[in-house]
Amino acid sequence: MRESLLAGAGHGSLSPVLRQVAEGVLIHESEFCQSNAVVVHGRAGVLLIDPGVHGSEMAALANDLRELGQPVVAGFSTHPHWDHLLWHAGLGAAPRYGTARCADIARVLLSGAGWQARIAGWIPPDIAEQVPLDLLGLIAGLPAEMARIPWDGPQVRIIEHQAHAAGHAALLIEERGVLVAGDMLSDALIPMLDVNETADPIEDYLAALRLIEGVAGDVDVLVPGHGSIGGADQVRARIDQDRAYVHALRDAHVLSDPRAGPSATLDWMPGVHERQLQQIARRSERDAAPG
Ligand SMILES: [Zn+2]
Repeated sequence: MRESLLAGAGHGSLSPVLRQVAEGVLIHESEFCQSNAVVVHGRAGVLLIDPGVHGSEMAALANDLRELGQPVVAGFSTHPHWDHLLWHAGLGAAPRYGTARCADIARVLLSGAGWQARIAGWIPPDIAEQVPLDLLGLIAGLPAEMARIPWDGPQVRIIEHQAHAAGHAALLIEERGVLVAGDMLSDALIPMLDVNETADPIEDYLAALRLIEGVAGDVDVLVPGHGSIGGADQVRARIDQDRAYVHALRDAHVLSDPRAGPSATLDWMPGVHERQLQQIARRSERDAAPG
């Protein structure tokens, strides 16, 4: 997998690490789980969404942007999971945003002694040393009534929902027809539900898919948090695939989803599916129990 990712990394590049996916919208794909960082050109610099995972990758991205004469003027984290909350000093000190709920959760993550050790516990040990935690999660929450990211560039609509993580935002760059989906609509990841933190993780997920479906007609390019970029034809296909997965999980139906099958892109996905099946089954037993 690693070789093929590297081979594709320079395709259509304006720079060694960035690839244009729509006018003024570029991505950098990380070696870690096909994570996609998104760069959006504005009038005085760029908006950087989910900057990346490895310190060296973020440094290379910072270098590229410097060479292009494009300072980072704003950042955004789609949701409060470690791989979407990172930052690198080379990217500068622009304001970094997330939904208010995302920022609240990040603040709790960073509070108290030993937070770095707690977060390090979630990072795969083989890459832990390459992930800089010092600027993790330093984001400002945007009030729920703020429908767009405050910055000087193409309008970016915030579509907040509770699938996968509380305070998760999909972003619609309306003038460019680009949907930045966060950790949904991936061809590599099955829907990963926020099983422990919410009252109804299945319904939260289905509600988020309905919200995204509502803007699907405006999307020409789909950028998932992890996985391949999709064209217009992929938007509804991936919504349907995610919904079918969540229905199968809810109804304990036999699953035929290649993302969690024997030829899954990520070899740990079948294990995630097994764990979710058990967690959902346990929840429904608990909900059915009298008293
Ligand atoms: Zn992620």
